[in-house]
Amino acid sequence: MPELPEVEVIQRGLQPHLIDQTITEVAYNKKPLRIAVDIIKMRREIVLNPIVELRRRAKYILLQMGNGAILVIHLGMTGNLGIFAKESPLVKHDHIQWTLKNGNQLRYNDVRRFGSIQTLSASESINCEETIFKTSGPEPFDELFTANYLYKLAKGRNITVKQFIMNSQVVVGIGNIYANESLFRAGIRPDRPIKSLKVKQWTTLIETIKKVLNHAIDCGGSTISDFLNASQERGYFQMNFTVYGKEGSPCPKCTAPLQKSKIGGRASFYCKNCQQ
Ligand SMILES: [Zn+2]
Repeated sequence: MPELPEVEVIQRGLQPHLIDQTITEVAYNKKPLRIAVDIIKMRREIVLNPIVELRRRAKYILLQMGNGAILVIHLGMTGNLGIFAKESPLVKHDHIQWTLKNGNQLRYNDVRRFGSIQTLSASESINCEETIFKTSGPEPFDELFTANYLYKLAKGRNITVKQFIMNSQVVVGIGNIYANESLFRAGIRPDRPIKSLKVKQWTTLIETIKKVLNHAIDCGGSTISDFLNASQERGYFQMNFTVYGKEGSPCPKCTAPLQKSKIGGRASFYCKNCQQ
C-alpha cells in the first residue's frame, strides 16, 4: 500500500509532465473502483481546461484545473499513475487514460481497484476541507502540527502513543512502518499512554516524524526519477528500515534484541532499553 512518502514522490514526479498541460480526452474501461467513477462529470469539468497545480493532501493526489475543478485521486492498495506516449499499448489493469495535448497520456493502473478518482466542480472544491477531508487531521509538515496541539489533544486520554499518531484524525499519513521508525528514533515506547508524554517529548517526536518522512521521500525520489514511460509494473519503493520487521535483531543503538508486540492489532517493533 502506498504511504505518504510514495504518494508525495509520485505527485512530485508527475508535476513537470502535467503542469500547464491540457487534457483533451478521457478513456475509462468502466471497471468499478472503490467509489463509482462519474466519467460524465469528469469529462465536463476537466477536459480542455489547463492543469494549473498538483498537490498532495493526506494520501490523495489533487490535480487543480484552471476553472477551479479538482481531480482527486487515491491510489488505494495497488493504484499507480504514470505518463506514457499515447501510442504505447495499454497493459492489464490500466483503467483510466487522460490524453494530453502534447500526445502523452496519464494512466491509472490498479490491480485490486481499491483506489478512487473523484471530480470536484469549482464550487465543490472550495469546501473540500469540509467534505472529502472533513475527518483528516493536519499534514505532518503543516504548521498546525505542533507539540502543543498534540499535548492538548492527548490530555487525559489513555490510548497508546503509536495508535494516537497513526490516527488520521490526529495527523494524516503516518502508517504503521513510519510510526514504528519514528518512535524508535524518538526514544519513545510505542505502548506508552499519551497522557504521560510531556510537551518536550511531543516536540522530539514531531521533529523525528518529519525527518523520517523526509528521508523516505528523498530515497523514493532517487529511486523513482523517471515518470515518462515508467514501467507499469513499477512497485512502491522500499527504504531501509531500522526496526520495522526486525524482531530479534540487535538494536542499532544498544545491541539488545528488538522486541515485537501487537498494539491495536498492528505489529510493533521497539527496543526495551532505548525507548521509554
Ligand atoms: Zn536499544
